Amino acid sequence: MASDNNKVGFVSLGCPKALVDSERILTQLRSDGYDIVADYGDADIVVVNTCGFIDSAKQESLDAIGEALDENGKVIVTGCLGAQSEIITNAHPKVLGVTGPAAYEQVVNQIHHFLPQTANHDPFINLVPPQGIKLTPRHYAYLKISEGCNHRCSFCIIPSMRGDLVSRPVGDVLDEAQRLADAGVKELLVISQDTSAYGVDIKYKTGFWQGQPVKASMQGLCEALAELGIWVRLHYVYPYPHVDKVIPLMADGKILPYLDIPFQHASMSILKAMKRPAATEKNLDRILQWRQTCPDLTIRSTFIVGFPGETDDDFEELLQFLQEAQLDRVGCFQYSPVDGAAANKLANQIPENVKQERWERFMAAQQEISASRLQQKIGQKIDVLIDEIDEKGLIGRSFADAPEIDGTVFVEHDSQTSAGDIVQVKITDADEYDLYGELIS
Ligand code: SF4
Repeated sequence: MASDNNKVGFVSLGCPKALVDSERILTQLRSDGYDIVADYGDADIVVVNTCGFIDSAKQESLDAIGEALDENGKVIVTGCLGAQSEIITNAHPKVLGVTGPAAYEQVVNQIHHFLPQTANHDPFINLVPPQGIKLTPRHYAYLKISEGCNHRCSFCIIPSMRGDLVSRPVGDVLDEAQRLADAGVKELLVISQDTSAYGVDIKYKTGFWQGQPVKASMQGLCEALAELGIWVRLHYVYPYPHVDKVIPLMADGKILPYLDIPFQHASMSILKAMKRPAATEKNLDRILQWRQTCPDLTIRSTFIVGFPGETDDDFEELLQFLQEAQLDRVGCFQYSPVDGAAANKLANQIPENVKQERWERFMAAQQEISASRLQQKIGQKIDVLIDEIDEKGLIGRSFADAPEIDGTVFVEHDSQTSAGDIVQVKITDADEYDLYGELIS
């Protein structure tokens, strides 16, 4: 079925660094709801990522721009030759915009300007945190390991739109991770619809990376990513027993001791009605066991209150779970029907005022838990990855904070530090969401 999304054609020329630039622009465009198409004729706009290294490469770039203009007409130019923009505008005055290398933000902004996102763009479906769309700074990157999903959660329509799980070959994923690390990325955020299911569709087929066999499984992937020596953070994990195997990697400091697990509920009857993956697992036992292996483990999760059929007892069970699980970061949504989802037909839909009341009680309970867990960090010395610097000081994140969705660590100003640096910080204060600290020299 043809998609209604706006379509971008992409011509990528040049060296591996330019390729990483292209991949990052393409990743962002996909996240922003654009389709990437292979033909000029199918595209609404074309991006040409140029090379300016030697004359023949310049000429090849100019030829590619000319071809894109002839075939399509709407062309944005970026990349190394873009640093000498007059060469491009003299040869091709009709191009819509020119930027230099690694200008991810500007290219995406230009595309937004000339080809706005479609109205039905859904950031959740496009694997973007629900807080909204922002281009990642250069020191962290999303690493998408699979598309689609084998589950059929009753509130979700992703599988009907994206199909069943298709895992990327493990060698491809690791090559991409390596390129990102080589280009200066300090933190990889592993994303998918179900990271714990990685490889199941390809029967955990062994691939090769740097001449070594690597099993296409969550554990195999994590062990290989650990070798990059950068932060590796896992998102969208379900609490299956085999997740236990990656916890020792976290305890050993190989990957970040952080798990993003969308539990969604704690009552077994609601989890079953939701048709959640790992619905019958004893999640609380599992969390306690993980924390025994890795006491620093940070767990973030999301929950839905007011799902059809949720009784007072189900909700109390959820609150009880929160108290016992002591999760670090939690988001909560009130259930609302999604067009085409199976849950819409379930009996006992919950009145809006009850949903609201439960949501408020849930948030109040969790806020206390999150705040007290942050208080426990006062006095600790932690590594902080600096995201940005403003006139007040350094703004960064610890291993416990994913970008966009978790908290922030505010650090006193320091003229030696740049965005993308990892610095050691002593935590001196905490509030409900954020930490405050000073640099350890
Ligand atoms: S695991 Fe469930 S909620 Fe997540 S994408 Fe698959 S069907 Fe949807």
